[in-house]
Amino acid sequence: MSRLLDRLFARFRVYREPGYYGKYDYKWTIVIDLDKCDGCEACVIACHAENNLPVVGEDECSKNRAFNWIRIERYVEGEYPDVKVKFIPILCQQCGRARCEAGCPTYATYHNQDGLNVQVYNRCIGTYTCATYCPYDVRHFNWFSYKWDAPLEQQLNPDVTVREKGVMEKCTFCIQRIRAAKDHAKDEGRAVKDGEIQPACVQTCPTGAMTFGDLNDHGSMVSILAKNERRYRLFEDLNTDPSVIYLKRVMK
Ligand code: SF4
Ligand code: SF4
Repeated sequence: MSRLLDRLFARFRVYREPGYYGKYDYKWTIVIDLDKCDGCEACVIACHAENNLPVVGEDECSKNRAFNWIRIERYVEGEYPDVKVKFIPILCQQCGRARCEAGCPTYATYHNQDGLNVQVYNRCIGTYTCATYCPYDVRHFNWFSYKWDAPLEQQLNPDVTVREKGVMEKCTFCIQRIRAAKDHAKDEGRAVKDGEIQPACVQTCPTGAMTFGDLNDHGSMVSILAKNERRYRLFEDLNTDPSVIYLKRVMK
């Protein structure tokens, strides 16, 4: 019995090592040009509609329970009238070495073969551990089973689960769109083409500040943008290897 348990634990240890998959099928990446982001929050609304996110209201927000998979942070520099405002959209950084995965006792959050940090909702028992390990504060807990007043329930996206009380969630890079495009490409016997997938936030951004694609494809737009001299990633020093790349705002 103990040898069986040892074998099981050894298997789980290997499984949880970063880089478990020798080579990812794709390395999905978002590049966000902060020089183009004007803080309009269209991405936030698009994400709500695409991913069945509840609108929790002011009271819940005042208890630090705001519910957005992507949020816009604002930074103000200078003194009036010489004031400059900067915006930065923050979503799950889909870390290559994800802190959240290290803590989950039920393996509800893990890396998939595309290098994405995914969440298995029906494995989540709501310990909140992943949210406390994540340095980017992007995980959200369902304190209630939220309801949509009629007729809003009719606009729920059938490709996305409606999560219930006690479950943790966060940005998925719109995995339902990735899956659909991968299946379509597989049926046609080819790889996913650059630009074929657009997560809802990327598709909606009116200034074109966000670009999505495969960093393993050296000719893709994200690979080109990722070489820009304005590039940086959030909290890189923490060795999280984020898959969201920001291009610094050019302040005049
Ligand atoms: S940003 Fe947070 S939730 Fe997302 S992969 Fe990284 S540690 Fe996990
Ligand atoms: S990639 Fe999809 S899930 Fe993530 S913030 Fe954008 S719209 Fe929301």
